[in-house]
Amino acid sequence: MQLANRLNDIAESITLAVTAKANALKKAGVDVVSFGAGEPDFDTPDFIKEAAIKALKGGMTKYAPTPGTPEARKAIADKLKRENNLTYTPEQVIVSVGGKHALYVAFMATLNAGDEVIIPSPYWVSYPEMVKLAGGVPVIVNGDPKNNFRITPQQLAAAITPKTRMVIINSPSNPGGHTYSPEELAALAKVIAPHKDIWVCSDEIYEKLLFNGQKTASWAALDWETWKDRTITCNCLSKTFAMTGWRIGYTAGPKSLIDAMNKLQSQMTSNITSFCMPAIVEAYTNPLSAGEIEKMRSEFEKRGEHIWKRLNAIPGITCVKPTGAFYVFPSIAGHLNKPLGAKKTICTEAVAFSTAVLEEAHVALVPGNDFGFPDHVRLSFATSMANIDKGIDRLERFLKGA
Ligand code: PMP
Ligand code: GLU
Repeated sequence: MQLANRLNDIAESITLAVTAKANALKKAGVDVVSFGAGEPDFDTPDFIKEAAIKALKGGMTKYAPTPGTPEARKAIADKLKRENNLTYTPEQVIVSVGGKHALYVAFMATLNAGDEVIIPSPYWVSYPEMVKLAGGVPVIVNGDPKNNFRITPQQLAAAITPKTRMVIINSPSNPGGHTYSPEELAALAKVIAPHKDIWVCSDEIYEKLLFNGQKTASWAALDWETWKDRTITCNCLSKTFAMTGWRIGYTAGPKSLIDAMNKLQSQMTSNITSFCMPAIVEAYTNPLSAGEIEKMRSEFEKRGEHIWKRLNAIPGITCVKPTGAFYVFPSIAGHLNKPLGAKKTICTEAVAFSTAVLEEAHVALVPGNDFGFPDHVRLSFATSMANIDKGIDRLERFLKGA
């Protein structure tokens, strides 16, 4: 039977595939150390769970407004004002089924066939695929590892053409673990500002996970008057509140964009799970949230420092120090095209390398190919220190040929 042509050029999400493979091996009894999952290893704080349980038990089991309940939209608008200095009204907010869905609906609502979207690389695997599904053309701009993977204003300027309709900014970033400071973002903004028909999609989902005093900014807050009508601000509760399974994301932007997204979403998914809406309100209004977030952030900071040091101590591996999120993205170039492990496997790129490491050393890494860097691998350090040491010990032994 026929399957749609639109899928011909689309890859399955490698991050989810690696996580699924590692979990299947674990279930089969193999002692796998997984650096795959891009999700906090903490549980959702109890007070947030309680809000959903209470709503569920109270009968909040029916359809809700497509863009979210007024209370949830208001809690998000208030959060954006309080924490991000963004002056959106609740009507300028739409809640979607996770950050991924928020971004997808936003792309579907803004892009036409052939529109170019500038994506700094390394990039989160789903950006190019979602852009293509929306008819757009990804234009990849490579960040230099020597510049902590950050693209420069000159590179950005050179990538803009009359067909450019969007630039995606993700700070802190998956998979590079890098962050743009407010000044660096402002320098990029200066390049885009004169091009008045270019949207900036600012994916701010790792905003709370910043290390060692690193700062960043919400794009639209760089200069509200310039950017309020041209910025798509995306966020979710997944990483900040350890709520990946809940599937709660949202977008804020000009009313015309939010209305367009609402129209699309009303024919697509309708509202998110209704009894999760009070959990949004709880997460953004309970004073306990700040402490919960800091607990996770400080733990990720320690782990990031530790895994970065350990990786850099392995001959043939070089790793940029993470300044945010919970990923490191080392180069494995020094280990390609030479015999590896006890089986003396020769790998020419990261997919083969990751496969060999999983099969022989039982360590799950995500190959960098679908992040735009086929000689890098991604390790999520959203796992315990003990697991980090166990996994890196195994990797070290494998690379020594043992
Ligand atoms: N953006 C980035 C940069 C991500 O890493 C992810 C991964 N989860 C998402 C968006 C999507 O988030 P969610 O899990 O809420 O769909
Ligand atoms: N964003 C996370 C990751 O990169 C979760 C998986 C996904 O949605 O890609 O691992």
